[in-house]
Amino acid sequence: MQQNTTFDILIIGGGLGGLIAAIVLGKKYKVLLLEKDAYPRHRVCGEYISNEVLPYLQSIGIDPIAQGAKKIDRFEISTHQGKLIKTALPLGGFGMSRYELDNLLYKKAAEFAEIVIETCTQVDFKDNSFAITTKENLHYKATYVIGAFGKRSNVDKYLHRNFIQKKSPWLAVKAHYEHPFEDDVVALHNFKGGYCGLSKIENNAVNACYLTTYHSFKKVKSIAEFQQKVLSANPFLAKFFQNANPLFEEPLTISQISFEDKQPVENHIFMIGDAAGLIHPLCGNGMAMAIHSGKLLSEIFLQNDFNNRTILEEKYTKIWSETFLKRLHTGRRVQGLLLQPSLTKAFFNISKMVPSLLPKIIAKTHGDIVI
Ligand SMILES: Cc1cc2nc3c(=O)[nH]c(=O)nc-3n(C[C@H](O)[C@H](O)[C@H](O)COP(=O)(O)OP(=O)(O)OC[C@H]3O[C@@H](n4cnc5c(N)ncnc54)[C@H](O)[C@@H]3O)c2cc1C
Repeated sequence: MQQNTTFDILIIGGGLGGLIAAIVLGKKYKVLLLEKDAYPRHRVCGEYISNEVLPYLQSIGIDPIAQGAKKIDRFEISTHQGKLIKTALPLGGFGMSRYELDNLLYKKAAEFAEIVIETCTQVDFKDNSFAITTKENLHYKATYVIGAFGKRSNVDKYLHRNFIQKKSPWLAVKAHYEHPFEDDVVALHNFKGGYCGLSKIENNAVNACYLTTYHSFKKVKSIAEFQQKVLSANPFLAKFFQNANPLFEEPLTISQISFEDKQPVENHIFMIGDAAGLIHPLCGNGMAMAIHSGKLLSEIFLQNDFNNRTILEEKYTKIWSETFLKRLHTGRRVQGLLLQPSLTKAFFNISKMVPSLLPKIIAKTHGDIVI
């Protein structure tokens, strides 16, 4: 084994959650972060980020607004048939590509932690410490491991996590386009079997990202045909996809997206972000939750006895559950409602009569400003 392969904390996954933990913990501990893909890179994501984490990002030296992120404070939602409701967003957010945001965080994290582009394949807890192996056949040891490997990873399979045994019907498609669109709006347009988010990012492109099921996709041969036949039954999406100029050669896709419950600590690994639980994308809150959970876990490490594993695990499990569980469950109920056309119609009718209802539901899937 080479020298210098023993760390206080090893983080698996360099998305938003993992990079935040590397920035905060790297200032005090010897931290290694393993990320399988080189930066910068595009990710399948709606790229609307709740303002609840903006002051916190700015406090650690990351300022998306100064980098051109679009300030967003209006929300529009339409039914399959194109009935539209507009409302102000209670807290608002900003639009920035993952290409840019992850890269900003990566550059900051590299100031404090060691970051290597390697894929973790094995992680084993034995004799009060971890042994980690990568695809590149390198070996590391660490006192603690943080699982920041996102919604679905080979590491989940290695650990035999419960959710990975079950098939998930969800897939998602995303690309950037040139098309006129208001800077301060995030739109959610429903179609049969899913919904599509539209919002702008720092370079004036419009991000179109949709979630749907294999069942809906089965009847068509290509993404282009799906967009033409299924999404375009909604007049807002028809107008967008007919006129928008794609900026990617091909849209990016991901599959097997699972919204099952997970645990914040498993096999003594501290899970953050989607590895601890994925909120339904329509809530537009997953990125803020990944950043927030990375911060909360880092503070547990900084404020407690580093050598007391039991206390650290108990405290993180408690604070994670208090902060995120309700939001995850509300998101699940809202998604169930939006995917049933008759319930969506009833919801739209009530929302027209009671305009405060929609902002209240949005607030329930979000948290307060993180400081
Ligand atoms: C369709 C869709 C749309 C969404 N839209 C929005 C939105 O508009 N707003 C919002 O706030 N949230 C949105 N989300 C949720 C958001 O994308 C996630 O919640 C967020 O990215 C979670 O961050 P994370 O750090 O937990 O994971 P990720 O950002 O996914 O990072 C995980 C990292 O781990 C790495 N990794 C995985 N396995 C390994 C391994 N074995 N070794 C090394 N590295 C590994 C991956 O390469 C990746 O970089 C959306 C989600 C979906 C599915």
